[in-house]
Amino acid sequence: MPLDPRRTVAELRALRELTGDEHGAQRVCWTDTWARARAFVRERLAALPVEIEVDEAGNQWATLAGASERAVLIGGHIDSVPDGGWLDGCLNVLAGLEVLRRIAEEGTPPATVRLVDWADEEGARFGRSLFGSSACAGSMRDQEQLRALRDRDGVALPDALAAHGVDLERALEARSRLAGAAAYLELHIEQGPVLESLDLPLGAVLGTFGVERHRVTFRGQAAHAGSTPMAERRDALAGAARLELEIRAIAKRAGDGAVCTMGSVTTRPGIVTSVVEEATCLLDQRHLDASTLAAMLADAKAASARFAVEERIDVGWERIWGIEPIPFDETLIGFCDEAIREVAGASHRLPSGPLHDAAEVARAGVPTVMLFVQSLRGLSHTKLEDTAEEHLELSVAALDRLASKTIAWVAGGAGR
Ligand SMILES: [Zn+2]
Repeated sequence: MPLDPRRTVAELRALRELTGDEHGAQRVCWTDTWARARAFVRERLAALPVEIEVDEAGNQWATLAGASERAVLIGGHIDSVPDGGWLDGCLNVLAGLEVLRRIAEEGTPPATVRLVDWADEEGARFGRSLFGSSACAGSMRDQEQLRALRDRDGVALPDALAAHGVDLERALEARSRLAGAAAYLELHIEQGPVLESLDLPLGAVLGTFGVERHRVTFRGQAAHAGSTPMAERRDALAGAARLELEIRAIAKRAGDGAVCTMGSVTTRPGIVTSVVEEATCLLDQRHLDASTLAAMLADAKAASARFAVEERIDVGWERIWGIEPIPFDETLIGFCDEAIREVAGASHRLPSGPLHDAAEVARAGVPTVMLFVQSLRGLSHTKLEDTAEEHLELSVAALDRLASKTIAWVAGGAGR
């Protein structure tokens, strides 16, 4: 079977029929629909000389044994957010399946090739993203919190996992699956507008942004909206509002794709007849360079302190979550560029704003690269998510070229 990218597009459509409805994709992890999507993939893998297994964290592996046990991994996630798009995650899995078909057809590859479908990349049901890949990478350190997580219906995470044969207490044993992993490749839709704005179908990903996520609380004094003169007010919302506008300048100064988002502001007492006593902001800052990210955070803290003085209010910062920037492998980025140029003529290098399973694998020390395909209008996590059919086909062809180059590299003794 030569590579047939049109088959991948047809299978994406079939998967959408099987696991979506009028609101979009419904392959939320640890649900029956997700299990159905996995069965869809297994049925197709069954035609290939691969060994299929599910690890302790619920990741599904298909292994095509090569002359060498050192392995090139191709990853993706079949799970989606509720009312999600038809490509996020599953394009990677189904394109990987097509590449496996092509390689298997040609006989025993010089290096082992493994397709992995990571469990619960989205974290849609319990709010914990990258479950399977973080267990496999050994970076999962929040078992205590995971044990206590419940979904909207009150179902505990360990029970939802158990219903799909996964024991949370043993999830970290999945670490053994990365032994022998010499390189990791992941195709994904861009989920942003950059490639479309450049009129390019494909891009090589430099790494994933580091993230700093903080709760910033401004505290002033509640006071009657009618009797308190403007000059006398200690308005906590004024601090929040000024910070929200300042983060635009902070991102602009940092450059190189820096982004800052104030995703939420909640106020107390939150009534129309009172000056705001307390404004709590959720701030997310991202950059590919660690020192620039640290400077963005320092800038935001300094600005908030200045606004607090000027507004005669207090400000406090609390770190909610963070992750360092994760650069991908230089050699693999070069292969990815080459592969893209071979199938599409021109390439572009760009960072990834969203986190991906690839970040966890790279963090574990496996040379990694991602390949992005253009997203129309930059939309994702909605049923409006889309990519032109010819670009989907190009992405499968580019992943195939990238896999060939990487397999030869690994077979020659390179990689981890
Ligand atoms: Zn995804």
